[in-house]
Amino acid sequence: MKKINQISRQLLVDNNIPVTEPRLLFLEILLKNEGPLKIQEVIKFSKGKLAVSSLYRIINDLKDLNLINEFKTLENTKVIELVSLEGDHHHHVFCENCGAVYDFEFNNDLEKKLDKEIKNVESELNISVTSHSLELHGLCNNC
Ligand SMILES: [Zn+2]
Ligand SMILES: [Zn+2]
Repeated sequence: MKKINQISRQLLVDNNIPVTEPRLLFLEILLKNEGPLKIQEVIKFSKGKLAVSSLYRIINDLKDLNLINEFKTLENTKVIELVSLEGDHHHHVFCENCGAVYDFEFNNDLEKKLDKEIKNVESELNISVTSHSLELHGLCNNC
């Protein structure tokens, strides 16, 4: 198995952007966590090695390359996650109390049905749909 720092480096090299320490550190944090993270959490995990300003720059760079996804919690807090290396498709569930975010997947049948419905929407509205995101809201175990 490849080490996390090798994977981070490879991601940057494959996308033809300069390998810098802050970028590597940021990717390593996301890879280690294996789920969505808020900006504050990334800052915390970086143990002071990533400044907020450079973090936002890194996020923008990597978002442009489609390496990461960005979305918002119910309280409008920015959340980022690594676009899966296997290109999987998943959804998010938000805790309405503490703001925790979790990944989950629907079974394939439901996804296929969704795609079918979306085809109907496309022809109804005469638009071309490129992707969907669907979120659930509730209360987590700790709340
Ligand atoms: Zn909660
Ligand atoms: Zn889906």
